[in-house]
Order: sequence, then C-alpha cells, then structure tokens
Amino acid sequence: MTDSLYSLSISELAPLLARREVSPVEVTEQLLERIAAVDGQLNSYLTVDADGARVQAKAAEARIAKGEGAPLTGIPLALKDVLVTKGLRTTCGSRILENFVPPFDATVCARLREAGAVFMGKVNMDEFAMGSSTENSAFGPTHNPWNRDYIPGGSSGGSAAAVAADLCIASLGSDTGGSIRQPACHCGVVGLKPTYGRVSRYGLVAYASSLDQIGPLTKEVRDAALLLNCIAGHDRRDSTSVDQAVPDYLARLGREIKGLKIGVPQEYFGEGLDPDVASAVQAALKTLEGLGAVLVEVSLPHTEYAVAVYYVVAVAEASSNLARYDGVKYGLRAEGRNLLEMYGATRTKGFGAEVRRRIMLGTYALSAGYYDAYYRKASQVRALIRGDFDRAFKECDVVATPVSPTPAFRLGEKMADPLTMYLSDIFTISANLAGVPGISVPCGFSGGGLPIGLQLMGPPFGEEVLLQAAYALEQATEWHRRKPVW
Ligand code: GLN
Repeated sequence: MTDSLYSLSISELAPLLARREVSPVEVTEQLLERIAAVDGQLNSYLTVDADGARVQAKAAEARIAKGEGAPLTGIPLALKDVLVTKGLRTTCGSRILENFVPPFDATVCARLREAGAVFMGKVNMDEFAMGSSTENSAFGPTHNPWNRDYIPGGSSGGSAAAVAADLCIASLGSDTGGSIRQPACHCGVVGLKPTYGRVSRYGLVAYASSLDQIGPLTKEVRDAALLLNCIAGHDRRDSTSVDQAVPDYLARLGREIKGLKIGVPQEYFGEGLDPDVASAVQAALKTLEGLGAVLVEVSLPHTEYAVAVYYVVAVAEASSNLARYDGVKYGLRAEGRNLLEMYGATRTKGFGAEVRRRIMLGTYALSAGYYDAYYRKASQVRALIRGDFDRAFKECDVVATPVSPTPAFRLGEKMADPLTMYLSDIFTISANLAGVPGISVPCGFSGGGLPIGLQLMGPPFGEEVLLQAAYALEQATEWHRRKPVW
C-alpha cells in the first residue's frame, strides 16, 4: 500500500495522514518520483516545485504532529497555471508570461494553503484558457493518459491528465466554456464548475470575466465536495463573489436520490452525438432511474445559439482583458523604435495564433458601430438561454446531458479548423452563459478505450444536489476505479 500512495484520492489519503500512518513527506516524495518518471510522456506539469512542495510537506507533518491538521493538511495538489501563486512562476500557457512570478496568491490558493495543502506545481493549459485540447499551450500539448496519441481535453488538460495519471492527488482548474468538465470527461475524472459567483476569481488570470469560474478536478466525487468546501464563499477582493452561506458540500453525499427529478433535454441528444457517448449516457440515466430518480423530458430551446453567443461574449471580454499584456508592466517585452511598435512586437511575439485570432475577433465585435450588432445582441440571446434553464428547473432538480459530443480526439485532428474545435464545447458552454453549476462524472468508455462523462447541471447554487446525484451514480458504478495502464 505505501508504495502507491500517489494513486489515492483525498478522501482515502486524509485519514491515513491524520492518523499519522503515512507522512505528507512520504506522499510528496512518491509523487515527485512519479512525476519525474512519467510526465515526460504526458507533459502535464509546466512547473514542478519540488523544493517548495518539500517545505510545505514538512510543515504539514509538523502541523499534524501538533494535532492542528485542517481538512487538506498534507494533501498534494496541482494548480492550473492560470491561478497566480506567490513566488511561483505562473505562465497561463503563454510566452508572454513565461517568466512571470506573481507577488501574491489567488484567493483559492491562499485558502488551500490555510487548509494545509501541498502545492506540487503548476499544470499545463491552453494559452490563456482558450481551447479545448491543451494544444494551444506555448509549451507543447499535454497527452491523454488513456492513449497518448489523443488530446486530454482543455483548457485544463494538464489538471485532468495529472489527476488521471496519479501525478497529483487532485487539482484546480478554471472553466469559461467547459474547461473543467470537458477535460475531466476525456480523462475519466470528476470535474465541477461551480455557480458563477460561488468561488472567488481574485488571482485567476481573466479570460472572459462574466463566464470564468474556478473548480476542482478530482479522482472521486467526494473529493470535489471537499475541495469546494475549502474554496467556496465570499471574498471582498472579488465583487462578483456572492455573499451567501457555504453549506457543507459533503452533507448530502450518500443520501438516496429517490424521487429526484432528472431533466433530459432532447436538444442535447441529436445529430452528431457519437454512438458510444450516447449509449454510455443512456446507461447512466438508466442507472440513476434504477436508484429511484425520475426522468423527465425538458426543453432548452435556445441551445442552438449557445456556441455563437459564447464566441462573441468570450472573445469580446478576452480582447479587453488581454489588453494589459503590453510589455510595460510585466511579462515579455520585445523592442521597437517607438511605443506602438513595442506594443505590436511584444504582442505578436508573446501571443500564440489562437489568442491573436480571438483578440482580433473580440476587438472587432466591440468596435464602434458593431457593439450593438454583436456584443449587445449576444447578451440578449444569452438572457434567453438563461431563461431556458430557469424554466427547466421548475420541472426538474438537475439536467443530465453528455459532456462532449465525442470521446477525446487525436492530437492535431482539429488544429487546422477552429470551428470544429469550437463545436466540441457545444454541451458545456450553456452552463457558463447561464451561470449555473455543472459537474462531469465518469460514465463509461468508448470502444477505443477512452473515457466518457455524464454532465449534470443544476440551478444556481445547486452544487449540493449535483454532488448528491453524481455521487449516487459513482457509487453505483465502477468507472471511477479504472486507471489508465502504461
Ligand atoms: N473551449 C472553450 C474556449 O476555447 C472553453 C475554454 C474554457 O472554458 N476556458 O473558449
């Protein structure tokens, strides 16, 4: 047992640490060894903070010895490289921030530190979280641990791959249009995007501020609840974080789901859905029904506009947020003969192709004369999408859908065609547009041996019921116990 501590979940490891049967130092050393041995094939870490992790593990050991352990004391985590970490390089997967060392911690990082977590390092992502495959990282793609010729999903692909391959115990990612749920689905782990406003975004490098949320990627549902317990709640540094009491997200795990109404929107089960995904999702719905849940048909009629709306809102906000990378305050600076040339050279050199494409699209959508036609129009349709969810949640407690229309695709397959890449988010972006929470939970495998996930979405601040239902499915199935073999 003690030679594979890295394969444990938080829930399995925490009691062993608390009883001092294993030491945080031992777990951390095992993980460092495993990362060194294995991550060359996956490229999930951008920065491994071996020295820092050792210091934190020692401190955690001392804390436990004094009987002062908190819920995550000694638990090694990996952080998506979009979360700023004091004194530890934070790149956002971009050349423009290649050598950026933040002077402060994101609120979620500070909260995890307080809870005793050990940070192993920072994990790979699509540049500025723009992408669905982690191929847009300036530091090379991450590979899917289930098959290294395939993408791990994105943009939190490093988080999902590191969790699936046991290169950390759990991870935090960010989700603007599916970036936690879709990679979790493709790597066979659990991913939770909380309600907009549930978790502070302070210190999350902004992509699209009205859509971004931080959330956990974990080996099991209970761990997602544990991490959410630590990171949720109001933060005076983020005015969009909601001042609403944080329930104990563990409380409803194991409670039966008899009578729970699960809405099944027909708009998510149409053309283009891979047959393996369709049958795994149907099987999961049957399992939930077998546990006493009641399936009801619901309609989310504006779903067909979601991708178009998202790619106006997200790129418009991104173009504004990314204006700060100008070579003056921080990050890369390329020289030019005058200020404008310096700006141009810095941004041309520092940003990758997809980021540049989105900045141009977003700048266009916001420009005088076009704002009404694009951003305002998209915001109006966004309100209709939100209205769809409001109506659906009058008829059901949660909505169940596939996470992604297909299992993971091959590395390189969609790089030449941004539109097909954008379409792979078709089932996840609505939750961000509506601000509602969503979870991805493993529900099967494709014929080719790649993981498939079920998405459950809930009403605003409905994380408890999502976790309850996801836990019920997990406990009734064996999918989460499977590990990729090397
Ligand atoms: N794939 C989507 C995009 O490229 C979503 C990314 C995300 O959630 N950060 O914008």
